[in-house]
Amino acid sequence: MIKTMNLHKSFGELEVLKGIDLDINPGQVVVLVGVSGSGKSTLLRCLNFLEKAEEGTVSIDGRAIDRKKDDLSQVRAEVGMVFQHFNLFPHKTVLENIMEAPLIVKKMDKEKAKQLALTLLEKVGLSDKADVYPNKLSGGQKQRVAIARALAMEPKALLFDEPTSALDPELVGEVLQVMQDLANEGMTMVVVTHEMKFAKEVANRIVMLDEGVIIEDADPDTFFNHSTNKRTRQFLEMVN
Ligand code: ATP
Ligand code: MG
Repeated sequence: MIKTMNLHKSFGELEVLKGIDLDINPGQVVVLVGVSGSGKSTLLRCLNFLEKAEEGTVSIDGRAIDRKKDDLSQVRAEVGMVFQHFNLFPHKTVLENIMEAPLIVKKMDKEKAKQLALTLLEKVGLSDKADVYPNKLSGGQKQRVAIARALAMEPKALLFDEPTSALDPELVGEVLQVMQDLANEGMTMVVVTHEMKFAKEVANRIVMLDEGVIIEDADPDTFFNHSTNKRTRQFLEMVN
């Protein structure tokens, strides 16, 4: 579904991704872990072309994307992203926030976009918030709106970059629950998170980055309980 081959990315002298090969199958939930600065966000951003890799390819459904020829907003519609900070439009209501991209990018009919937005709000448990502005929402509610907004583009896959890291602890669970529901429905997801419980219970696969290289790619049981990799063991001691 999303496949990278030999991805390299540098910022000036600093080589952040050093040849990433990753093949994500439809319906897989991949949790991406690694210490701060290991390249997790950079990799996610390369997957939907917010960042330009100097070398290597990203393919979606078997087709390598060409930055020059392909419409990158179309690629981003297919591979959506949810960020740590929700970036909702402050002057639009919750409903308008969700309708925006379908209206503008997909040129969806207004009534249809509204129905879709209402359905998605129900899915994330916020039907009663359709007409309020984002500043009236809690962080957890904002993030659920951000997820609904990403879903409004009917993506084939969703990328999450620390979606719960900016939240007060008591609000983390409601966002993880929405993500778990999506996973259960078969959404293909790549999730950067420090929530190891989510990684253990929801992920099919844990990929560990270390200094721009994938040093581990395993099912959760193997990763958490049976890894012999020294760096992985160190990482696990740190997060547990
Ligand atoms: P964290 O867990 O702290 O979010 P990360 O694994 O997501 O870390 P990245 O954000 O991918 O790490 O950053 C990897 C390295 O690239 C870091 O050393 C960072 O300083 C550097 N970097 C990231 N973005 C840029 C940029 N736009 N310009 C220059 N350097 C950058
Ligand atoms: Mg990051």
